[in-house]
Amino acid sequence: MLQVNNISFSYQKTEILKNISFSVKAGEQLSIIGESGSGKSTLLKLLYGEFDLNSGRLFWRDTEILGPKYNLVVGYDFMKYVAQEFDLMPFTSVAENIGAFLSNFYPEEKQERIKELLEVVELTAFAKVKVKTLSGGQKQRVALARALAKEPEIMLLDEPFSHIDNFKKQSLRRNVFKYLKLKNIACVVATHDKEDVLGFADRMLILNNHEVEEEGAPEDLFENPKTPLIASFFGEFNVIDNKIIYAHQLEVVEDSSLKVRVKQTYFKGHYYLIGADLNGELVFFEHKKPLDVDTEVCLVIN
Ligand code: ADP
Ligand code: MG
Repeated sequence: MLQVNNISFSYQKTEILKNISFSVKAGEQLSIIGESGSGKSTLLKLLYGEFDLNSGRLFWRDTEILGPKYNLVVGYDFMKYVAQEFDLMPFTSVAENIGAFLSNFYPEEKQERIKELLEVVELTAFAKVKVKTLSGGQKQRVALARALAKEPEIMLLDEPFSHIDNFKKQSLRRNVFKYLKLKNIACVVATHDKEDVLGFADRMLILNNHEVEEEGAPEDLFENPKTPLIASFFGEFNVIDNKIIYAHQLEVVEDSSLKVRVKQTYFKGHYYLIGADLNGELVFFEHKKPLDVDTEVCLVIN
């Protein structure tokens, strides 16, 4: 398994990451979440051995992952990393890119493997197309398939679906994460999208102020968000009497002591998000129907 022991790192003087510790078991999926600039990409690069640590140590099973000072060639066979800025071979085909690291010794197995991976990333129809003609999202899918080709023991994915449009994103995410589980490949995913986490991650870790703010199962962190930052990751929320209350926890009832006046209504698909005034503070709740501005309603917390 991956063992991260008290690592710290800085590019220049200021420390970007301080005393970070966690572990990832074989086949387990961990999401690293945090605001832009919180150090998610830096952390993945450290796990890959791209930089030298200020302090702390990193292991995959018994192998210590070392930075460039102690390891001339960055990267290990058991680990694949798909960067936010993926690099591919632009003038060769999708299929050739995916098969680039596969041995030519068993050509039939190689073709079979490429076919399987084209299906995972839904690019079968593009197998013969040159990569340079693809869209950003399609290139990202090629990069994912290529990283999966040699079945690493652990994958590091940096915002793996960020370039992929919403039409494809849902099914692609399911395919890729299902495939990783099927092959028992451990996975560390940096993301700021809750859709990448919910339903897929076994555990999540929140980076804030250079440190681990919280770590746990998505269900537990969602049910009991300790800080507004954590709540904001999951959705719209309010702080009422010093308690974090999600918008979906507030329900309109006939009568209650929580009286609010409607200010805004937003169509959200299967519900409306209503902004309302509670003693001079704006609170948000979800409701099945739109409500007129200045309507007075009563709420309860569920
Ligand atoms: P995230 O992926 O969470 O958006 P990053 O790891 O990319 O965050 O960046 C964390 C911090 O490190 C930011 O303040 C960023 O400006 C800084 N940083 C990132 N890469 C470099 C670099 N190569 N040199 C110096 N500072 C960097
Ligand atoms: Mg990043």
